[in-house]
Amino acid sequence: PYDVLVVGGGPAGSSAAIYAARKGIRTGIVAERFGGQVLDTMSIENFISVKQTEGPKLVASLEEHVKDYGIDVMNLQRAKRLEKKDMIELELENGAVLKSKSLIISTGARWRNIGVPGEQEFKNKGVAYCPHCDGPLFEGKDVAVIGGGNSGVEAAIDLAGIVNHVTVLEFNSELKADDVLQKRLYSLPNVTVITNAQTQKITGTDKVNGITYTDRDTHEEHHVELQGVFVQIGLVPNTDWLDESIERTRFGEIIVDKHGSTSLPGVFAAGDCTDSAYNQIIISMGSGATAALGAFDYLIRN
Ligand code: FAD
Repeated sequence: PYDVLVVGGGPAGSSAAIYAARKGIRTGIVAERFGGQVLDTMSIENFISVKQTEGPKLVASLEEHVKDYGIDVMNLQRAKRLEKKDMIELELENGAVLKSKSLIISTGARWRNIGVPGEQEFKNKGVAYCPHCDGPLFEGKDVAVIGGGNSGVEAAIDLAGIVNHVTVLEFNSELKADDVLQKRLYSLPNVTVITNAQTQKITGTDKVNGITYTDRDTHEEHHVELQGVFVQIGLVPNTDWLDESIERTRFGEIIVDKHGSTSLPGVFAAGDCTDSAYNQIIISMGSGATAALGAFDYLIRN
């Protein structure tokens, strides 16, 4: 059996595994796709101490660092179920069952897609999901934010300070963001808010050049010329494979304490799959380290 088994091979899982292995304990990683969201990232400019890198390059360094510690990496394996008996048992999609004294869940999250024509085609070519990450790429340009909840309105406020103009498209008849955020948004001179807007398609040639939406009242179609579209309709944690033994928020995020412990003793969690306030590489690596140290504390007490 493992001392620490990590589920998920993104920055949180890699960091957790390295911290665990450095304690000299038997450590494994099960990952559906080693690298996680970082593999899908073009330019990374906020991984502190590295001025600029690319996702696949950072993943290669993560992998090299992990391999340096003799950690068992089981890539392209999806976890299906976990159960606590005398040990924690993790069942994989392929039927195998792995046993461990402690477990760290770091299965990350995925951006909810809007699912209109152009979204997939122009990903990283004008279609973006993370304003903290990609906002500066649109300096001086015109962008849209799809979604008028807290994350959409926060994104619009953030972007308004960088880009030339922001159009916020909300499907419902009013924004759902907190009042203070809405007030701030409406005070900005370079933001237009359009409600009752159903996005139809994102247009472009080699990159985005506009967005088409219909007014849900009049059914009229409108087109706005712009260079970027930020989709802000939610981040979904990859936690649907868990049962009630792991307590989660109503959004499905795993609830952790300051040691990274979940509601099931011996099971820890880190990164974007948890209820952490912000989702960033540097933050998920920090919480991975916390979960590994939490797991180590648990092991020496049990
Ligand atoms: P993830 O990176 O999502 O990794 C999850 C891991 O779990 C993967 O290995 C996945 O395959 C695996 N997994 C999922 N389900 C299972 C399962 N059932 N069984 C086994 N394995 C499973 N952050 C920044 O700081 N700077 C940026 O510039 C930046 N740009 C971004 C650009 C894009 C396009 C995206 C999508 C995100 C960006 N982010 C950026 C956010 C950052 O990538 C995430 O916050 C970070 O990757 C979260 O790390 P994680 O390890 O928690 O999860």
